[in-house]
Order: sequence, then structure tokens, then C-alpha cells
Amino acid sequence: MPRVKKSGGKAGKAARPRANGVKRAAARGGSGTQSTRRSTKREKALPAKARLKDQPVRIFKVRELNAQQKCGPGTSVERLFRVDETVDGSPRAHLVFLDRRHGWYCEHGVECPAVNHARRT
Ligand SMILES: [Zn+2]
Repeated sequence: MPRVKKSGGKAGKAARPRANGVKRAAARGGSGTQSTRRSTKREKALPAKARLKDQPVRIFKVRELNAQQKCGPGTSVERLFRVDETVDGSPRAHLVFLDRRHGWYCEHGVECPAVNHARRT
């Protein structure tokens, strides 16, 4: 009786799952790059020249005055400053006080920009 050896047939089955895995990985990578491209937004930056035009040119000249002569001998004002502000050519005068009780303040209020200029001198 002739003996027939059975061989082969296993090699073809092993190749199929490997091919499927490669296709799935490629599809995931492609979708990832598309999402990152969508998230990036183009922001329009304002030119620096446009910002400078909105703000007027301000010049401050600070001069210290005699506080006791202006406010009297019994005043709580320790120091007194005359601040001449020029905004686009038009002058504006400030009187900035350094008070023992209230601290620094301008005749226009504490928030007046002349207060900061008087403090530096
Ligand atoms: Zn002021």
C-alpha cells in the first residue's frame, strides 16, 4: 500500500491576520493627522502702527512746590507737585499731593496718571 505524506496548507493561513493589522494601523494614523490640521486656527494679528495711533502722545513735566506755603502751616500735606501734562499739544495741569493720611493723590483723583509721574521724582 502506498503511503501519502500530508504536508503544507498551514503557511497560507498565517499570512492573513498580519495583512489586516497593517491596514487598520494605517487608517488610524491618517485620521489623526486630519484632526490636528482642523484644530489650528489662523489669528489675524493687528499691526503695531495701528495701536500707536490710538494712544495720544503724553508729556509730563513734574515740578515740586512748597506744600506749607500752598496749603498752610498746619496742613497734613507733606509734599506738593505741579504736573504739567501735554496731550497731543494741549496742556493740562495737575496738582499732586502726598498726604500724611491719604497718601498720594491728584486733584483729579487717585487714579490720575500724574500721580505715578510725581512719585518717581
Ligand atoms: Zn490729575
